[in-house]
Amino acid sequence: MAEQHDVVIVGSGLGGLACGTILAKEGYKVCILEKNKQIGGNLQTYVRDRVIFDSGVHYVGGLDKGQNLYQLFKYLGIMDKLKLRRLDLDVFDAIIFEGDPVVYKYAQGYENFIKTLATQFPDEEQALRNYCSAIREVCGKFPLYNLRSGGGLFEKMTALEMDTKTFIESITSNKKLQNVLAGNNLLYAGVAYKTPFYVHALIVNSYIESSYRFINGGSQISKYLSKEIHAHHGKIVKRVRVTKLHEEGGEVAYAETDKGDRYYGKLFISNIHPSQTLDMLESTIIKKAYRNRIKSLENSISTFYVNVVMKKNSFRHFNHNYYYFEQEDPWGVLNYTQENWPLGFALFFTTSAEDEQFTEGVTVMAYMRFDDVKKWEHTFNTVSDESSRGEDYEAFKQEKAEVLFNMVERRFPGFKSCIKSYTTATPLSARDYIGNEDGSLYGLTKDYRDPLKSFISPRTKIPNLLLTGQNLNLHGVLGVTVSAVLTASQILGMDYILDKVQDAQKDS
Ligand SMILES: Cc1cc2nc3c(=O)[nH]c(=O)nc-3n(C[C@H](O)[C@H](O)[C@H](O)COP(=O)(O)OP(=O)(O)OC[C@H]3O[C@@H](n4cnc5c(N)ncnc54)[C@H](O)[C@@H]3O)c2cc1C
Repeated sequence: MAEQHDVVIVGSGLGGLACGTILAKEGYKVCILEKNKQIGGNLQTYVRDRVIFDSGVHYVGGLDKGQNLYQLFKYLGIMDKLKLRRLDLDVFDAIIFEGDPVVYKYAQGYENFIKTLATQFPDEEQALRNYCSAIREVCGKFPLYNLRSGGGLFEKMTALEMDTKTFIESITSNKKLQNVLAGNNLLYAGVAYKTPFYVHALIVNSYIESSYRFINGGSQISKYLSKEIHAHHGKIVKRVRVTKLHEEGGEVAYAETDKGDRYYGKLFISNIHPSQTLDMLESTIIKKAYRNRIKSLENSISTFYVNVVMKKNSFRHFNHNYYYFEQEDPWGVLNYTQENWPLGFALFFTTSAEDEQFTEGVTVMAYMRFDDVKKWEHTFNTVSDESSRGEDYEAFKQEKAEVLFNMVERRFPGFKSCIKSYTTATPLSARDYIGNEDGSLYGLTKDYRDPLKSFISPRTKIPNLLLTGQNLNLHGVLGVTVSAVLTASQILGMDYILDKVQDAQKDS
């Protein structure tokens, strides 16, 4: 079978869907190829005991009227359809430490953020002000993040060459405050003295501006984007795994699937990891040096998480998230050993349409390296049916879940008695489900010492092959949506798209 399209997109993650929406609205005949039966990649949700769990989106920032993600979703035509719940204004993230009864609160709105933490650190208000000013200053250096065009690398360079931990240490000598300000670094899998400050700034800024959860899960985003694509005569084909991008005469001619079907296009966009994109590409145009550079880039760590269905009316619902640390240093959580795993966890609450006094479900998430599950790497499965990996794998998951539950119980007494049922996901689940090599949380890591090395351009040496998704600029719902604009701008022009974004805002 062979089909002809204007644009063929490999992968229906947020990046693929957002690019597909932008281009379909501009009259391009778009076809998205997705290996799974559900679209959305990390936006997918699943149901256990009638409770809806997210797989990879627990909360997002920047969704208040006029803010960056709001404007982008307005332009994509989905903003007014999304069902959202704003997290508590006075605490969207609560940072807690073993042995310390205080709950350190990140509040929404810069002034609120400063005042709230200043009540807990009365001598540190000026440091908090300096911290917030620096975040905003750095964000100002990224024009596209602010939906503006222009701005060269030179302008950004000072922001690229600073690491987050050193920066936080420079604004206060108060160790506790340093640890609190790094407390939600799981949001970007932060590495001490490595993760650039701009990554921290772009992410934390969006959540301080406004923090929202999706009622009944983030798959709403993929549902409404796919409706936009279909409304503009685009097509999404599920259960097709692209195995080859075939080049002829210097351009990609078609994408071939595992069933041997061919999808011809004028343009191709890959929403999957750049390294895997190169593996699919049989081409001499891509230089060995480029392949080697991409292959040498490190991925962020993976996770182990447990989605827990709670007994009815048993465990309090919190309209905020918790980040818990077993030791004082939040950066040390990555360096666990088999004996002391995990050194912390994040706790997220499901969000249903009802006013919730008690929660239906919680997600407990902790870092886990791919090596911890390597002995089962030859087994392949999906998140919904992992039982075939063997009994020892089942026992491993159960043991890890118990360890996590015991840790949660210590801080939230009674938690274990409220558990009705649970499902687990390991780095292998993430690998098989998303299709990456190692279940990495957020794709490529960034290093302030060599900032340009991990800067992936949407352009490749093949003129009709573009890249999009979380490996480009920044991961997360906001980062990937901004990256989709960057990718689509290679076809439509940046000023053209940004004008349309502004127009969409005026219509609201
Ligand atoms: C556990 C977890 C929690 C997270 N929490 C948050 C959060 O709270 N807030 C937030 O903003 N972000 C969060 N993120 C990050 C966010 O979900 C991702 O950055 C974003 O969704 C990635 O989008 P993407 O476009 O890069 O595509 P992906 O989601 O990586 O999707 C890629 C798609 O390509 C498909 N595919 C792969 N190979 C092939 C192939 N060969 N052929 C066809 N299709 C293929 C996959 O099946 C998948 O559908 C979280 C991520 C994880 C893993």
